[in-house]
Amino acid sequence: MARRPTLSPSKITTFLACPAKYRYQYLDSRGRPFMKAKSYFSFGSSLHRALERFHDSSDTGVTTTEELLTAYEESWIDAGYQSAEEMAEAFGEGYEILEQHAQEWVRRKTTAKTLFTERQFSLELEAFRLIGRIDRLDEHEDGRLEIVDYKSGRSKVEEGDVKNDIAMSIYQLLIRRKYPDRPAFATIYALRTGVQASAELSDAEIDQLQSDIQKLGEEILSYTDSYWELRPSPKKICNGCDFLKLCSADPDFDASLIPSVESESTPPTASSEPGPSSIQESLF
Ligand code: SF4
Repeated sequence: MARRPTLSPSKITTFLACPAKYRYQYLDSRGRPFMKAKSYFSFGSSLHRALERFHDSSDTGVTTTEELLTAYEESWIDAGYQSAEEMAEAFGEGYEILEQHAQEWVRRKTTAKTLFTERQFSLELEAFRLIGRIDRLDEHEDGRLEIVDYKSGRSKVEEGDVKNDIAMSIYQLLIRRKYPDRPAFATIYALRTGVQASAELSDAEIDQLQSDIQKLGEEILSYTDSYWELRPSPKKICNGCDFLKLCSADPDFDASLIPSVESESTPPTASSEPGPSSIQESLF
């Protein structure tokens, strides 16, 4: 029996950013050799793994600052760093971040109970299964559920950032459908500073989101043949994309049209690349 397709926030945001990137990342094996390990992913994953143990109430071996820091050492991922010095600097930064996090956690004396850490939730939609991995789900005394997402690269966050974040909205959709009687909201936690911001989608917004994701997901999956005919067009994100060499090999791809990272101008789009539909605009 054919496996039911799945879509995650990462897949959806990749498609919205660039359908060609989606193809190389998820469908086209030619993209695989170009995918490089990234130090910022390794750094974020190392922090997440340590925090998963710290906040997991069933992991009674990691409850103090010292134990969290030991868990961090055990969780460290060294892929993607350019040098031993760069890695040592990142490791030290993570150490400080977690030390502060543990102290702040004790200081806050939160009464919320952590239900899950690093747990995948899913929702069956008509053509696919929507999935999302949630860093932490807390239950407050008044019954509200809080979805907590750690951001290791951020220092600041505001309510609008949470509200406009596709992943945070999808997490709310997944939790609201899983626990229909429970109010739920989402929080981004900027690990570098401990700053956090929250937002909550209304029932009507959740319904609209589900309908939009349903349509967008069908569009992504029905794109099948178009992916192979796709002519990638230069965009601002091409500068940091693993697949630039592949795209540059396309005779229609004019790399000189890639805007510089600093440029605020609207990236040019080639008429040959079918862009994401207006669903993207209605989403956020
Ligand atoms: S190089 Fe640019 S056009 Fe090509 S896949 Fe990456 S982002 Fe898309």
